[in-house]
Amino acid sequence: MQKYDYLVVGAGLFGATFAYEAAKRGKRVKVIEKRNHIAGNIYTKEVDGIQVHQYGAHIFHTSNKEVWDYVNQFAEFNRYTNSPVANYKGEMYNLPFNMNTFSQMWGVRTPAEAMAKINEQRQEMAGKEPQNLEEQAISLIGRDIYEKLIKGYTEKQWGQKATELPAFIIRRLPVRLVYDNNYFNDTYQGIPIGGYTQIIEKMLDSDLIDVETGVDFFDKKDEYLKDYPKIVFTGMIDQFFDYRLGELQYRSLRFETEEKNVGNYQGNAVINYTDAETPYTRIIEHKHFEFGKGDKDKTVITREYPADWHRGDEPYYPINNQRNNDLYKQYAKLASEQANNVIFGGRLGQYRYYNMDQVLHAALTAVKEEFK
Ligand code: FAD
Ligand code: UDP
Repeated sequence: MQKYDYLVVGAGLFGATFAYEAAKRGKRVKVIEKRNHIAGNIYTKEVDGIQVHQYGAHIFHTSNKEVWDYVNQFAEFNRYTNSPVANYKGEMYNLPFNMNTFSQMWGVRTPAEAMAKINEQRQEMAGKEPQNLEEQAISLIGRDIYEKLIKGYTEKQWGQKATELPAFIIRRLPVRLVYDNNYFNDTYQGIPIGGYTQIIEKMLDSDLIDVETGVDFFDKKDEYLKDYPKIVFTGMIDQFFDYRLGELQYRSLRFETEEKNVGNYQGNAVINYTDAETPYTRIIEHKHFEFGKGDKDKTVITREYPADWHRGDEPYYPINNQRNNDLYKQYAKLASEQANNVIFGGRLGQYRYYNMDQVLHAALTAVKEEFK
């Protein structure tokens, strides 16, 4: 097998970036992907003139100019700003937690009034160090918002009581004293016009890269290890080692996509259902990512249901708690001792709750390291 310099396992953002950069340096690359399409979780597909995000809403956001310029080589981005709305038993609240939310929740009008209300609510946790997600949320924003906008959503999403979840999960949510519904604090944000799949297509479009979909690395692992001088592996690191140190934990999802014969189903791209009873966490309406595109009498929506993960399911989210992070470190050590011709990358290979910009950054870092 002298034909290829690299085998890349997984045609997602990490694998494709590595393949593109390797080919740019004259290396020959074989890419295998177990799904029947490329692009991993950022895969989008056109339905009725609308790009459907097949694996959940994907909004590109970053403060890293290098990463932003890099991704803009492959697509033009629109001005989409993520501003999800929460539906709690029919009451509608703007997210992230900002003056609009506080005004809707408590009727306050000024930042001083909002702060006074938040401080009053935080009293419950006064002098106590938050030990879990519930306590962290209450000390951050108070009980009213915790009960209506956080508890139900979080317990559905993670399948655990908020009192048993680590506090760090909630630190991702910004709190603002301005009337600004932008979910992210980053400098750059948008959605690629024409979808994400084109980015991966362009990255893999080279005479030096061969791509095969519908191929699982584990069907011929030993042969691949023998035949290829170097492998870039973006699947699950614990599976690579046959779970020999134990299983890392993941959270899975189920997506239910439906075409509707209405022009505008919910009036926003993302609506979160934050009560405990609704079985899904959010509904996305894809046409609202695109401003005026698509059939005016039709729309496509996707409900996102959280699910337990068992072997064979799609591992959408690593669960980065202490136990799993410690176990991951042992796998990473094993990798450096026993698999030094394998680069482990991406959300699953590095077992990190990475956003797209972080995956790109990690892939470009791996490239620099490999070709220094
Ligand atoms: P993946 O996209 O998972 O690619 C890995 C590929 O490897 C997959 O295609 C998989 O099929 C393949 N593979 C695995 N094992 C094997 C094997 N044994 N053999 C062959 N192929 C294999 N990020 C943002 O920045 N903004 C967002 O708004 C955002 N929203 C998200 C919403 C959801 C619901 C989810 C799940 C993620 C979201 N992300 C978001 C994160 C984003 O999807 C990831 O950062 C990115 O797609 C990870 O790229 P990757 O290449 O590491 O992994
Ligand atoms: N979250 C919440 N209510 C919401 C949205 C998010 O409590 O309406 C919490 C929830 O615990 C979630 C975390 O914030 O897991 C991070 O949310 P984000 O939208 O950043 O996650 P992702 O899009 O990656 O699933």
